[in-house]
This record gives sequence, structure tokens and C-alpha cells, in this order.
Amino acid sequence: MTVSPTDPGAASPEVPDELQNNVAITTIAKLLDPIYNWSRRNSLWPLGFGLACCAIEMICTAASRFDLARFGMEVFRATPRQADVMIISGTVTKKMVPTIVRLFNQMAEPRYVISMGACASGGGPFKEGYSVVDGIDKFLPVDVYIPGCPPTPQALVNGLIALQEKIDHQSIATASWYSKEDPMADVIPVPVLGPDLVDVRQIDLIKAEAAKAQAEITEAEVAETAV
Ligand code: SF4
Repeated sequence: MTVSPTDPGAASPEVPDELQNNVAITTIAKLLDPIYNWSRRNSLWPLGFGLACCAIEMICTAASRFDLARFGMEVFRATPRQADVMIISGTVTKKMVPTIVRLFNQMAEPRYVISMGACASGGGPFKEGYSVVDGIDKFLPVDVYIPGCPPTPQALVNGLIALQEKIDHQSIATASWYSKEDPMADVIPVPVLGPDLVDVRQIDLIKAEAAKAQAEITEAEVAETAV
């Protein structure tokens, strides 16, 4: 039987009983995955930025009492090019979204996003605000959501452990970042600024409708004057 060296789902060939203790059958992916994932899960470097009150809890988590160094995550980087994890810690405003997406785009794969707190996940108490984004997952692919307002440092640590468990189940054979196709194509929309009531992408239509309404008003006024 021929087995693809990189296909983890391929059927294993049969080994005679007398050879069961002498032969190990594996694939390159199965052999490399534990090492590959172990090294990545224990050296996740977060991007050093915060957005609002949740950021205080994130900073606290990195300090000595909770000590992210235990998980290899204490190295908060000042540049997205050296970071693996983006922790969205706080209220995301429409003004800030383009910058956040740009920072995400500057991070190299593999990269992960944690949505920390009610604001980042769904707008939180500011959801109805004209300036607030009701969920960062409309702009970035979120891997882990952490509930709370704010989430405690323990909750953030739990979220980071959940991310480690997710990484444990990834395979070098199927990792999207080695794909020839851009895995992020069409996934991340270009952020649009402006109040929710006006979609600036339809500005031409809005202008045409406004001109039509204005013409109707003018026509009515002219008719009224003639009477
Ligand atoms: S979820 Fe609560 S603590 Fe976090 S940024 Fe929003 S209002 Fe602040």
C-alpha cells in the first residue's frame, strides 16, 4: 500500500503481528506536528498594544502575579513583524479599525487573534454608539473569545491556554499559511468609516437620491408659487 508522506488522513498500512513491536509507521506530518506545535505554542509573543480598560487587565496579566512567562508569552513585542498573537483588549472604535487591520496585516503567519472582553467581541456597553464597532470579528478572524467586562487576568490566561490547545490540533500538512492560495483573501474586508446610518460605499447612490429629492422639492415649490 502506498501512503502519502504528508497526508495525515491516509489509511495506515497493515503490519504483521510479529512485527508490531519492531516497526513504527508514521507520516512526516505526524512526526513533525508535535515538535512544530510545541515550539509555537510555548513562544507566542503578543503584540504590545491596548485599546481601553481591558488593556489594564492584560498588562496586569503580564506582570509578576500572573506571570505570562510561564507560558512563554511574556515577550510583548513593539512591532507586529515580531508578534504572533494580537490581543484585542478594549473598545474598538471605527477610527481605530483601519490601524488594527493594518497591524494584523503586518504580522507574519502563523498569527492568531484573541478578542478580549465584551467590547472587542460585540461592542459591549458602547454597542449602540455611532463610533464603536460591534465586534472585531467583522474585520479580523478571531481564534478565541474571552467574555467579561473586563475579563480577569485568570480569564485571559485561560483564553491563552485555549489558544495553545487550538495550536496543538493544527498540522503542518494542512496549515493554511503554507498554502499557495492566500488564506486571507476575501476574509478581511476593507474597513469603512462613518456612522452606521450611512454606508459610504454607496455614496454615489445616496448623492443621486438626495439630488432627486431636492429636484422634487424645487419642482413643488415652483408649482406652489405659480398657483
Ligand atoms: S469590555 Fe468593559 S472593561 Fe473591557 S474595554 Fe469594554 S467597557 Fe472596558
